[in-house]
Amino acid sequence: MDKLIVSVATTGSWPTKQMTPYVPTTPEEIASSAIEAWREGASIVHIHVRDDDGKVVCDPERYRRVMELIRQAGCDMVVNLSTSGGAGGASEEARLAVVDLRPDLASFDAGSMNFGERVFLNSPDFLVRLAGRMMEKRVKPEIECFDTGQIDNAVRIINQGLIDPPYWFQIVLGVKGGASPSPRQLLHMVDMLPAGAPWSVCAVGRDQLPMNTMAIAMGGHARTGLEDNIYYKKDELAHSNAQLVARVVRIGRELGREIASPSDARSILGRPPLG
Ligand code: ZN
Repeated sequence: MDKLIVSVATTGSWPTKQMTPYVPTTPEEIASSAIEAWREGASIVHIHVRDDDGKVVCDPERYRRVMELIRQAGCDMVVNLSTSGGAGGASEEARLAVVDLRPDLASFDAGSMNFGERVFLNSPDFLVRLAGRMMEKRVKPEIECFDTGQIDNAVRIINQGLIDPPYWFQIVLGVKGGASPSPRQLLHMVDMLPAGAPWSVCAVGRDQLPMNTMAIAMGGHARTGLEDNIYYKKDELAHSNAQLVARVVRIGRELGREIASPSDARSILGRPPLG
């Protein structure tokens, strides 16, 4: 099995400071939370940014600031910027422009769906343009699949030659409107992936930990963090992203997986060394 890539999704678009005071929302808080998680073994950080009121935004300046703070601290973790545009407010152009910041990775949401109480639009045309922009800027897509049909969409785009190998998949389970977080569902989705593609799993709320653990045991990778789940256990808030990462790292080691450093992660994902 490959070394275990642990991703941390620090912020997301959903948790507010009212829900948990521990969610980082300013660029400074997001960067320092990422760095803390890196010290515990996270090799990828998945980033969303918020405005001064804590509302999710697709603001290139804020993304740039977070990346700058991470690198200034001497942290070499793989940076993955969200192109989701948050709660449906961002234009397709703004979402595409995130790629121009040239992060190591950017999210590639492989289809449209109901997402909680809203509709998450990723039209066929937008996906082709997003893949093209990523290829042009040499940014690797993190192909987020919330359901089985999205894996088929991604494979179609791969077969059109719009994404280069290795194909890096993030299977997202438990979003209202997406696939349910069950072992059977996960096995089925992993079976659908192109042969040899590295994959990771994240799941919402209380399913985060069991689905992470299952992925680790299967040879996949794991994403944790407050974006997907704000609790450490029932009725107890997680007090940092680092706390969630440390637990996944412990479980990974107990299950015999070595933990990937950022440079290990870059080599698994076919990314050039940092610099
Ligand atoms: Zn996200």
